[in-house]
Order: sequence, then C-alpha cells, then structure tokens
Amino acid sequence: MNMIRSISIVIPLYNEENNLAPLCEQLSCVMNQLKLESEVIFVDDGSIDASFACLDNIINGDNRFKALRFGRNFGQTAAMAAGIVESSGDVIILMDADLQNDPLDIPLLLNKINEGYDVVSGWRYYRKDSFAKKMSSMLANKLISKVTGVVLHDYGCSLKAYRSEILKNIRLYGEMHRFIPALASITGAKICEIQVNHNPRISGKSNYGMERVGKVIMDLITVKFLLSYLTKPNYIFGKWAAYLFISAILLVSICIPLGIQRAGLMGGIMILAGLQLISMGLLSELMVRIYYESQNKPTYFIKERKNFKNLGK
Ligand code: UDP
Ligand code: MG
Repeated sequence: MNMIRSISIVIPLYNEENNLAPLCEQLSCVMNQLKLESEVIFVDDGSIDASFACLDNIINGDNRFKALRFGRNFGQTAAMAAGIVESSGDVIILMDADLQNDPLDIPLLLNKINEGYDVVSGWRYYRKDSFAKKMSSMLANKLISKVTGVVLHDYGCSLKAYRSEILKNIRLYGEMHRFIPALASITGAKICEIQVNHNPRISGKSNYGMERVGKVIMDLITVKFLLSYLTKPNYIFGKWAAYLFISAILLVSICIPLGIQRAGLMGGIMILAGLQLISMGLLSELMVRIYYESQNKPTYFIKERKNFKNLGK
C-alpha cells in the first residue's frame, strides 16, 4: 500500500468571514506537525460577506494556502467538486470552514489511510447541533446505511479523508456530497470511520434546515439506482415490466372466466405500463452508453497495476 506523501485539504465556504483566521491558524499548526507536503484549497462559494477579502489577507505570502472563488452560490457540493479537481495530494481531506470540524483530527484520519483504508469517515460522536438536527440525521444515517449497504454513523459529517484516485473518480451533482462514501463503494473502496470532535457554530449561521430531509430521500433513490444498476438499467425496468405482464395475464385469466369484465381493462393498463417501462429501460441503456463513452470512462476501477510497461519502451 502506498504511503501518504502529500495531502490536500479542501474547504468550501459560504459567508464565514469571522471563522477563517482561526481556522487557518489551526490548519497551519497541524500541517507543521504532519511534515507532509500539504496544501489547503478554500473554495468561496459566492459569499456575500467579506470572506474572500479576509482569505486574501490571511493567506497572502503562505503558498500552502490556495483559494478559488465562485461567481455565485453554487452549493457546498459544487464547491467541494471544484476543490477536488484542483487538488494534487495523494490524500484529499474534506472539511467545513465554520470551525465545527477540528483540524486536530486530520492526523487521526491519515493514520487510518496509512493502515490501508481508502475512505475514512468522521463520526461526530458528541455532536453540538440542535436536537431536531441530530434526530433527523440519526434516522437518515440508518436509512442510508440500510439502503446502500455501506454502514456509517455519520454520512453528514464533512470531515473525511479519501485516497485521491478514489475521490477524483466520483462525479458530484446536486447535494450528493453526503453520499460520497456510498458512491466510493462502487469502486471497491475500503471504508472505515473514526470518532471526531465537533464544536458548536459560534459565528455565522447554518445553511441547512429541515428541507434537506426531502433532498436526502430523493438523492438516496438515485444513489441506490447508481449502486445497483448503473451499467445495466434495463435489468430493473425489465424486471418490473415482467412483473406487470405476469400480473396482467394472471388477472385476466382468473377474473374474466368469473365474469369480472373490468379486469380486461386493468390488464390492458398493466401491459401498457409494462411496455412503457421497457422503453424507459432501453432509453436508459442508451444514456448509460453516452455517459461512459462520451467521457471515455471505464465501467470498472483498477486499484493497482504491476509490471505494466509497454513493450519496446
Ligand atoms: N457551504 C458552502 N456553500 C453553501 C452552503 C454551505 O460552501 O451553499 C459551506 C459552509 O460555509 C460550511 C460548510 O459548507 O463551511 C457546511 O455548511 P453549514 O455549516 O451551513 O452546515 P451544517 O454544519 O449546519 O450542517
Ligand atoms: Mg456547520
């Protein structure tokens, strides 16, 4: 297993002007201790306060700190994605800018990566958020773990470490940052979790309320579909079409002899719905091909290569 030589810490931020100076100080201490090649990539997600000007001041002259600025607010996921594209470390650490995550946990995450894990997920064991937030998050974590098969206590904790090749292979849309470990499992990533610190938010305000519940449920359906059927969507549509056809045949052959004429209509509707599912499946098959072939993306993930030098070179 490759030892870590360099790390990139990616930090999305939106209106965090008062948190940035103490955060940079803490990060600087941790990077000095680590003695690895390190960079911090801040992504200002269209802040409307003085965050970017503060950053500019703080990081001036220290080229371990880098900053990107979006033209408007694109969301935390997009900001993470931009930072991931720019990062060049062997390991990428994602965290929040609001001082709720503790940079002192970074060495602990890295220890686990050095033990051979590809993804190390932070678990805010003593979480300093409202009761409603903690309850809804606990239920969401149980549901996501059950549906995706990747069992974690805290999907919502941003503070996580990833081997770069794993994270760079994942495309993030919408608010999918909460599902990165589940998406990483598609490549066969080895995943573990460790308890991390969590502080209450002192300055600025949280960007998420209860509206995230609906989004998480919709995203979970997408993730489940990606995990199970990304390269074979017709299997799921075809399966449900087959159920509909069989039910229609059973319905008609049992009910019509009993004189229940409406069963014919029901059976017809079921067959039509089945045909629609089959056409959706075929369309999805086409889209999957476009998805993979348009970006030359393989349908597999190679973890390591040995002795693969071209002949004659
Ligand atoms: N954030 C962002 N863009 C957004 C919303 C949030 O970059 O549109 C950043 C925010 O500045 C913070 C992190 O994402 O660094 C987590 O956000 P927040 O603290 O609001 O989430 P919570 O901790 O309340 O779940
Ligand atoms: Mg926060």
